[in-house]
Amino acid sequence: MAPACSPTNSLHVAVIGAGAAGLAAARELRRETHSVIIFERGTQVGGLWVYTPQTEPDPLSLDPNRTVVHSSVYDSLRTNLPRECMGYRDFPFVPRNDDASRDPRRYPSHREVLAYLQDFAREFKLEEMVRFETEVVCVEPEGQKWKIQSRSSDGIFKDEIFDSVVVCNGHYTEPRVAHVPGIDSWPGKQIHSHNYRVPDPFKDQVVVVIGNFASGSDISRDITGVAKEVHIASRSNPSETYQKLPGSNNLWLHSMIESARKDGSIVFQNGKVVQADTIVHCTGYKYHFPFLNTNGYITVDDNCVGPLYKHVFPPALAPTLSFIGLPWMTLQFFMFELQSKWVAAVLSGRVTLPSSDRMMEDVTAFYANRDANKLPKRYTHKLGECQVDYLNWIADQVGAPPVEHWRAEEVHGGYRRLATQSDTFRDKWDDDHLILEAYEDFLRQKLI
Ligand code: FAD
Repeated sequence: MAPACSPTNSLHVAVIGAGAAGLAAARELRRETHSVIIFERGTQVGGLWVYTPQTEPDPLSLDPNRTVVHSSVYDSLRTNLPRECMGYRDFPFVPRNDDASRDPRRYPSHREVLAYLQDFAREFKLEEMVRFETEVVCVEPEGQKWKIQSRSSDGIFKDEIFDSVVVCNGHYTEPRVAHVPGIDSWPGKQIHSHNYRVPDPFKDQVVVVIGNFASGSDISRDITGVAKEVHIASRSNPSETYQKLPGSNNLWLHSMIESARKDGSIVFQNGKVVQADTIVHCTGYKYHFPFLNTNGYITVDDNCVGPLYKHVFPPALAPTLSFIGLPWMTLQFFMFELQSKWVAAVLSGRVTLPSSDRMMEDVTAFYANRDANKLPKRYTHKLGECQVDYLNWIADQVGAPPVEHWRAEEVHGGYRRLATQSDTFRDKWDDDHLILEAYEDFLRQKLI
C-alpha cells in the first residue's frame, strides 16, 4: 500500500512523457513544491504534435517488436476545436501576431500547436526538468516507493527511486485495427491512420476508409484530392447507408464493411461492392503501458484501464501512482491541467482522497452504471456529454473555478458543426459571440 502524505509533503516525482499532459503535470507538481524529473524518449517537448514524415515499417503497426514512431499527426492536420477553448486555462492559445511564421487561424495547423506547447514550456521553464532521449522501460513498486528503470539513447540503463510516478505517455500510438471478415485473403494494401502522412501514395486509387470520426473524416477528404474514389465505412451508420458526401465528387459514405473478397472487392452492408486498392483503418488507438509492472493490479482490458478512481488514481496504489489524460474528451489540455492540479495537491497533502475501499466502491459503481447503460467496456474512458461535469468535479476538489460558459458552449457547438458540416467546420462558424466572450475573459484576467 502506498504511503499517506502528510500536509506540505514535498515529494520526488517522476513524470513519464513531455507531451501536453506531461508538461502540465510537471508545472503543477513544481508549483506545489515537488521536485520533478520528466522522462521523454523523444528529442523535444510536444509529444504527438511533433510531426515527422517518418512512419513505422509495418503499415498496420501490428508487430509488437517494431520501431515505434510516436506521432500520429498527418501533414494537413488542423485542430478539431477552436484554439481559444483548446489551450490551458491560464496560458490561452491565442494568435501570435508578433511572429509571421505563426498560424493565426481559429483552427490552426499542427505546427501552431507545437509552437504553442514550446511557448508554454519556455514561459514556465519546463525544459529544465526534462531528460530527453530517455525511455522509461520499467516502473514497479519498491517498498513504499517506485523504481524506474530508464534507457538513454546510448543504450545505458539506469535504476532510480521516486516517491511518486505520474504517467503521461499518451494514447495515440498503439493502433486498433478493425476486424474485416475475409481480410486475410484480400489482396490489397492496408494501413492504419497512425502511419498516414500525405495523400500522394493514394493517387488514382480506390480507397476504403474505415471510421468516420475526426481522423477518418479528415483523411478521407485529404485523399479525395488525388484518389479515383474514396468510400467511408462506418459501423455507427445504419446498414442501408449509402450517400455521396458534399464538398467533393468522389467521396461516398457507407455502412460498415460486410466482407473483403480474394478478387479484391469490398462488400458493404448496404449491398454495394467496390474494387478497392487500399483500406485505411481510422479506427482509433489502444491504451498501452508496456513499462508498467503492478503485479497485475492495473490491467488494460478491451481498452478499459483499471481500476482507476475518476480515471486518475488506482485505489490501492494511490496517491503515489497516477495517470493524466486517459478520458476521451474535447477539452484535452484543460483536463490535463485540472487532473495535474489534483494529483499535485493530493501528493502534497493539501487535498485528501477517500480511503482505498471508498475509491474502489466508486469504481465499481461507475462500471455498474456503464454496464446498465449498455456501454461497451471499450468506452469506459469516453466521457462524451459528461465531460464538463467531470471537469467541474475535479475543479471543485482543487478549488479551481468551473468550466467557463463560453468554453462549454464552444464544445457543444463544435460537436454540432463537426457532425453537420464536416467539410467546412474549421472555416465557417456561427459563434462569434463566444469568441468575444472568451477574449473578454482573457483580458479581464490579464492573460493576454
Ligand atoms: P502525447 O502528446 O502523445 O505525449 C506523450 C509523450 O510521452 C511523448 O512525447 C512520448 O515520446 C512520451 N513517451 C511515451 N512513452 C514513453 C516512455 N516509455 N518513456 C519516455 N517517454 C515516453 N487534442 C486537442 O486538444 N485538439 C486537437 O485538435 C487534437 N487533434 C488530434 C488529432 C489526432 C490525429 C490525434 C491522434 C489526437 C488529437 N488530439 C487533439 C488529442 C491529443 O492527443 C492531445 O491533445 C494531446 O496532445 C495528448 O497529449 P499527451 O501528453 O497525453 O500525449
